[in-house]
Amino acid sequence: MKPVKHQMNSSEEFDLLLVNGRIVDGTGNPWYRADVGLKGERIDSIGLLGSEDAKRRIDLDGLVLSPGFIDIHTHSDLTPFVAPEADSHVYQGVTTDVIGNCGGSQAPMSDYLKERQRPIAEEYGIEFDWNTFGEYLAKLESMKVSINLAAFVGQGTVRTAVMGMENRQPTRGELEEMKGHVAEAMEAGAFGVSTGLWYAPSGFAGTEEIIELARVVASYGGIYATHIRGEGDPLIEAVREAIEIGDRAGLPVQISHHKAMGMRNWGKVHETLRMMEEARGRGVEVTADVYAWTANATGLTAMLPHWVHERGRGAIIERLGDREARERIKEDMIEGIPGWESLVSECGWDRIMITRSPNHEDYEGRTVQELAEKGGVDPYDFAFDLLIECTGSPQGLLLATELVRPRGTIVLKTTTAENPQLPAARWVVDEITVVGSRCGRFEPALELIAQGTLKLRELISARMPLSEGVSAFQRAQDPTSLKVLIDVQ
Ligand SMILES: [Zn+2]
Repeated sequence: MKPVKHQMNSSEEFDLLLVNGRIVDGTGNPWYRADVGLKGERIDSIGLLGSEDAKRRIDLDGLVLSPGFIDIHTHSDLTPFVAPEADSHVYQGVTTDVIGNCGGSQAPMSDYLKERQRPIAEEYGIEFDWNTFGEYLAKLESMKVSINLAAFVGQGTVRTAVMGMENRQPTRGELEEMKGHVAEAMEAGAFGVSTGLWYAPSGFAGTEEIIELARVVASYGGIYATHIRGEGDPLIEAVREAIEIGDRAGLPVQISHHKAMGMRNWGKVHETLRMMEEARGRGVEVTADVYAWTANATGLTAMLPHWVHERGRGAIIERLGDREARERIKEDMIEGIPGWESLVSECGWDRIMITRSPNHEDYEGRTVQELAEKGGVDPYDFAFDLLIECTGSPQGLLLATELVRPRGTIVLKTTTAENPQLPAARWVVDEITVVGSRCGRFEPALELIAQGTLKLRELISARMPLSEGVSAFQRAQDPTSLKVLIDVQ
């Protein structure tokens, strides 16, 4: 047990006294047993206070008491403008959201981004009146958000600001301009840069281009977070690239939502975890996060090959409407293209479910295969027609695809919705892996945390109320052996 800390002398009685807790304070220390006394809304004393007077006393009976949790992977970049109280996170014990993931942030602002966000601006009344990252952070600050935000600047966003949706290498001048944006963001308080290399336009960038930006981040002591180039067939090469970037740019790497997508790739994570361990052994600080779901969710447009995204959304619709182009898209999605991962070929339309479709709510919860069969059309054509119809609608389309097990593919409908169909998730957690919600419920993440040990282990997570999650957390042999669990504030 750790020695008692932070004991302050106080003569008056406490308003609330929490006794017999196990304190996990986020400093990286192991837990220690102590009581916490509150006066008003503030913590007054931490120590052995059991004999002190208090208006109200709660016996925690060994439960963990912590300042809050960090949700390592969210896309809550605009949520504070709509719900600055962030209650969907606060009620789950989350006190810090990491935003700007997967290569996409809300600054630097560009005409392209502004246009793309126009439906959101209209629906939620958000005024996109910032340009730089610093201005965006200042605007967030002015919203008086109730939780902490740790923001990445998105490399895809930076690239769009400088090069639009161009699928080519940058000129020297363009590269310098991108580096300038990254430097501005770091000066303003960004935690690092993120990429989403599976997506366009982030994935239009080659390794060297990313290393150049990562070096700027490294000079500010920031980190590199990456949704890697492929999470299924090319998983191993993609993890290798992420490690190379960290190694050559000299900065820590966070591999986002680490997984092996598509049944034929299951099990590859053992190899990639080994690669990460090996890299750590030679001094490259690489960590990963997972979400506690058996499925992931993304936009339907993301199924399309990168070249289809060149020049933006109007061009996508044009291509989908052109017979020849449509055939080529279909062929590329079936056959694959070197350097690009075809999620449809990995998972199959029968494991790809529409989770949000504002124009056709009746599609929600059904697979593309099922809907296509019902309409008597080819699933590719069904998806393409749906895209033509819905691209640019306020909410867009969201899909869930299966990840790690064949049954029960479904997850997120909105950032706060609960999904009764959430299946049990099986996953591995080890010392280099942390857990994030990716905008969903955090409790399953807590369960994963609870069961994590220094050794690799296959885990089963069940849906549970937060209270049970916390006590599961408490049962962990050494919860602090997992990185970044507890908010330090
Ligand atoms: Zn991602």
